[in-house]
Amino acid sequence: MYYTFNYAKGVLLLFIYRIALRDIERKVREMAKKIASEKLDEEDGSIVIDADEEQATIDDLPGVGPATAEKLREAGFEELLAIAVMSPNELAEQAELGEAVSSKIIQGAKKMANIGGFVSGNKLLERRKEVQKLTSGSAALDELLGGGFETQAIVEVYGEFGSGKTQIGHQLAVNTILPSEQGGFDGEIFYIDTEDTFRPERIAQMAEAVGLDSSVVLDRIHVARAYNSAHQMLLVDEIKKLSKNIDVKLIIVDSLTSHFRAEYVGRGMLATRQQKLNRHLKELKQLSDVHNALVLVTNQVMSKPDAMWGDPTKAIGGHIVGHASTFRLYLRKSKGGRRIARLVDSPNLPEGEAVFTVTAEGLRD
Ligand code: ADP
Ligand code: MG
Repeated sequence: MYYTFNYAKGVLLLFIYRIALRDIERKVREMAKKIASEKLDEEDGSIVIDADEEQATIDDLPGVGPATAEKLREAGFEELLAIAVMSPNELAEQAELGEAVSSKIIQGAKKMANIGGFVSGNKLLERRKEVQKLTSGSAALDELLGGGFETQAIVEVYGEFGSGKTQIGHQLAVNTILPSEQGGFDGEIFYIDTEDTFRPERIAQMAEAVGLDSSVVLDRIHVARAYNSAHQMLLVDEIKKLSKNIDVKLIIVDSLTSHFRAEYVGRGMLATRQQKLNRHLKELKQLSDVHNALVLVTNQVMSKPDAMWGDPTKAIGGHIVGHASTFRLYLRKSKGGRRIARLVDSPNLPEGEAVFTVTAEGLRD
């Protein structure tokens, strides 16, 4: 009896210990990812990204041939950092490798992965001081966001079809051209359009309504249709190059997820899809940091439950999009053409809701 009790206690302790360990590992992984995505140059505090930089891949790891690389990819390990933070037995289990091999691979990944560095809190505060805020045209929505849509951030707007995601994109594009006294950035816009819903006429209508010359506005909005997810990701590389000569203040990806959703269908594709989305978002975040710009991404949720995509109120891309975005706004339609925006996730603002309308002139209270 006594022994049985002790045995049960031991099993329970072991169980709790494993759960705690997993939690710590997950946190370390998230931290490492965060640090790596914010590679600050110690010299002048600016963030360096090099579009042409050759990064080591899992194929470059010691002892990893094509077969092992394939196993790693299949298990969802496409990035060195993801491997570097694993424990040998976990990697062995998940990638179906031997433990000795796993250990060697992890050692290699630790050496080659870009772990990133530490910077002082003061340096980060300096960068935060540069943050600018863009008006949406609705005082209520601006207030919900603590004064407007922030630079150095990714804002994810998600909601059903017709909830106003594209309207927000159009309005922010127009407002970006406004001078700062009027809540704008006096900058330029890159607009990645994946659903063919960008309408220059709508831009012109909104521009005239705020007293801007529509032709000047349209001249400063650079639009590209993305034909598939790979093209969509390539367009971000293109923005990296073009933004050397263009004062980009707003990057819109409308919609972020539609191509990924259509192309990566089924459970087996889930890990790959999330990895690609993660990389895509990381690159967008870097652009927002480098140019002190705002990134707006839209994400559609289903109105009808769908077996493949599960919970209808959950944004596509799940928590990968959630973690990568700084602010998340959930939109829903209300009576009389009103829209309700709910701030779901924010590092420094309380959750809350704002009501706004979409009029012929654009977003208003
Ligand atoms: P989503 O991108 O979330 O699918 P949209 O941003 O395209 O949705 O929203 C479409 C809605 O915006 C329309 O149903 C309509 O209510 C409103 N809208 C679009 N254009 C105009 C306009 N010119 N005047 C007034 N409302 C408009
Ligand atoms: Mg839309």
